[in-house]
Amino acid sequence: MTATMMTPAQLARFEARLRAERADAEERLAEFDDAMAEVRIARSDATADDEHDPEGPTMTQEWSQRTAVLADVRAELADVDRALARIADGSYGICARCGKRITVPRLDARPTATLCIDCARLVG
Ligand SMILES: [Zn+2]
Repeated sequence: MTATMMTPAQLARFEARLRAERADAEERLAEFDDAMAEVRIARSDATADDEHDPEGPTMTQEWSQRTAVLADVRAELADVDRALARIADGSYGICARCGKRITVPRLDARPTATLCIDCARLVG
């Protein structure tokens, strides 16, 4: 008997939401992979033709911006995967720091939350 249990209906709702977010993130990842491939081709063309190509720096900037966004999406995907794993092992919605239940409104706002609101405030 534990006070941290969520109803199966609530869990199912969060699981559906996390799966939808996962699908969305994967879609964005696929879009970025396509865009990255284009940048990569453009870059290799540029270096093959002329190392001092005037568009070089712009390309590098675009590249690093894309890489940063890609890292964000990958991190988001990893968060969603960890949340789905917690649903599978029954620890979803339990604060990783104090072990108390994370409130449903908080999870509604942030389904991948691993800390209750009190601990999140303490950690900053
Ligand atoms: Zn906590």
